Amino acid sequence: MSTVSRRCRVCRKSFEGEPWQHLCWDCWRREKDGGLEQRGYERGLTAGRAEARRAYLRGLAEGRVKEAAAHPATPPIADDLIRDPLWLVHPDHQPPERSGLANRVTATLLTLRESVRRASMKREDGKP
Ligand SMILES: [Zn+2]
Repeated sequence: MSTVSRRCRVCRKSFEGEPWQHLCWDCWRREKDGGLEQRGYERGLTAGRAEARRAYLRGLAEGRVKEAAAHPATPPIADDLIRDPLWLVHPDHQPPERSGLANRVTATLLTLRESVRRASMKREDGKP
């Protein structure tokens, strides 16, 4: 192929080149390097964002594990799970021979109900 006299689209200088060439060597080189630089920058940016996202998710997971360890979950006990047995075992509903047992179980259930209520209030406050 024969070279022809061309005018660079960027710097407007004349140069000898192929008919399909639109840039002088210097401008072509600058543009190519700039493109490489831009692609490198974009690759770095993408990698940086991916690393930041991984670090964020790692931190989130670690935070949740620490939070769970600091506040062991006490499964909430529904009020009726204590109220119904209380009604069943209450000493007033038992024959005299079971009075001792009925008193002990009732006292235990009342203590349990109180601690469940306190735990429930702490959960609502968001305090440990
Ligand atoms: Zn040029």
